This record gives sequence, structure tokens and C-alpha cells, in this order.
Amino acid sequence: QKGAPVKVTSKEIAQEFLDRYDTFLFDCDGVLWLGSHALPYTQEILNLLKRLGKQLIFVTNNSTKSRLAYTKKFASFGIDVKEEQIFTSGYASAVYVRDFLKLQPGKDKVWVFGESGIGEELKLMGYESLGGTDTRLDAPFNAAESPFLVNGLDNDVSCVVAGLDTKVNYHRFAVTLQYLQKESVHFVGTNVDSTFPQKSYTLPGAGSMIESLAFSSNRRPSYCGKPNQNMLNSIISTFNLDRSKCCMVGDRLNTDMKFGVEGGLGGTLLVLSGIETEERALEISPDYPRPKFYIDKLGDIYTLTQ
Ligand code: PLP
Ligand code: CA
Repeated sequence: QKGAPVKVTSKEIAQEFLDRYDTFLFDCDGVLWLGSHALPYTQEILNLLKRLGKQLIFVTNNSTKSRLAYTKKFASFGIDVKEEQIFTSGYASAVYVRDFLKLQPGKDKVWVFGESGIGEELKLMGYESLGGTDTRLDAPFNAAESPFLVNGLDNDVSCVVAGLDTKVNYHRFAVTLQYLQKESVHFVGTNVDSTFPQKSYTLPGAGSMIESLAFSSNRRPSYCGKPNQNMLNSIISTFNLDRSKCCMVGDRLNTDMKFGVEGGLGGTLLVLSGIETEERALEISPDYPRPKFYIDKLGDIYTLTQ
């Protein structure tokens, strides 16, 4: 983004920010909530935007829940959102499998390293997935007893989709590696996030697991979540959006802000309630773009304009 980022600190700047855009694309964690804690005035700002007739779209790199499951997460924070408004990195990975890899439903199968949000989206598109939440993978690893190794690999598996798995163990890594060692099997990663911060601690993100698989297989995954532009292109075409009237709101520079800037969106707003600091927001780096606007937390837009 050309020019130094503008900090939203007054009613005038907040009002001008709201007037500029018709559509707001929201990253979720770190912007609307942190883990299971809502951030202040999340409901109020979203309701205000709805009253102003703005279109709201939610774009999360969290692959652990399906879009349907995400609507329930929104509901738990008192926010009414439809499945169609939500894009997750698990869904983006399933779209990639269907539209880019063009795997055949009913024939090609997918090996999942990750939670239910990946397999459920694949299933809705007609793909059978293996691995994932299969509880037989919970067993401590024993090569001679693993049904996945003893019975041999499934030759219909033509793709691995890997994301964050909080049940990660050696068994899952070991079987996934067997599939990745087959050159004909595609390697898809949901999202590159190295970490995800909670209220009082920071946890390892999906990237930390996917990069471990990349290291052991000596392969590179195709990442589908933010900042990948296939995901943005599919959002733009689904809703027929004018990019210049869209603003991406997020808390991470190398995923959210990159997603918006590289996608040529009219605006980007970095919130400092998640990953980044003011110092990083203002820094010029070859690794990520600077946002157009930044603010301490999203709810400040609401309180400033009241
Ligand atoms: N990946 C996982 C597994 C997560 O739990 C989260 C946050 O909850 C994220 C990624 C980051 O999500 P977002 O893109 O909404 O910040
Ligand atoms: Ca985030």
C-alpha cells in the first residue's frame, strides 16, 4: 500500500473509513474474537454495518470447522451469519481440489491430515476422505499394527489435504508421509499461519504442522487459505464484487493484509487486537505490505462513531 498507514483515532476518520466501502471482508480470530472470548463491541459494529447496508463476508484461515459449524460459532457470540457468507481455508482447499486439481468425485479419494472442517467440505462436494478424524489414528504408533500401513495404502487416494490437527501424533504424520512419498499424490495445505494467539498464550498454527510434513517429504504444498488469491477470486466472483469498494479487515500482515493488497482491494484495515503491533504496522518490510488503515481494535470504529 502506498503511503503510511492511517490510524483510525477520531470520529471523522472512522466515518470516512465506513463511507469508503460497500463490502467488508473480515478475518475472524483476532478481529471478532480471540479463541472463545468475544472482543469488545463485536456485535455492535457488525450490526452497525448491517444497518448501513454494507455487505459482510467472513474469511478465516481456520480449517478445523466447516462453514456450517462456523455459523454455530457465530451464533454463540450472538451473531447471525449464513453459511454462504463464510469462507474457511478448509472450504478453499476443497474448492481447489474440485476446480483446480479437478479430482473426480466417486473415484478420487483424499487423505486428510486435520480436523472435521476439511472432510466435511470435501464430502459436500462428493469426495470421500480418509484419515482425518478416524479414531484409529489416535492409537500410539506401531507400524506393525497400524491398519493404514498393514492393509496397504489406498490407491484411489490422489491428494493429501493437510491443516491444523489438535490431535496430531506420530501415527498421523507417519501415514500422511506414506501418501506424500507417492509422486502422483497432490499436496494441499490449508493455511500457512505459524501461530494462533489466544487471550493469554500463543499456540502453534497449521503452518507448523504442514511445514513439518513438507520437510519430511521434501515437497512443497499448495496453500489455499489467505493470502492465496484463488480464494479471493472465488469470493469476488461469487458475490460479483467491485474490488475498489471492498475492505479487508484482519490482524495478520502476511496473510490478511497481503490477501487484500495483492487482490487489489480498495482498502485494508489492520487491527492490533491479535497478532501484530503498531511498530510492525508502520514498518516497511519486503515480506508483507503495509495496511491502508490500522486501529487498536475493531470495536473502536463503533465507539468512535457513536
Ligand atoms: N487455524 C486454526 C486452527 C485456528 O483455530 C485459527 C483461529 O482460531 C486460525 C487458523 C486463524 O483463523 P483466522 O484466519 O480467523 O484468524
Ligand atoms: Ca486472524
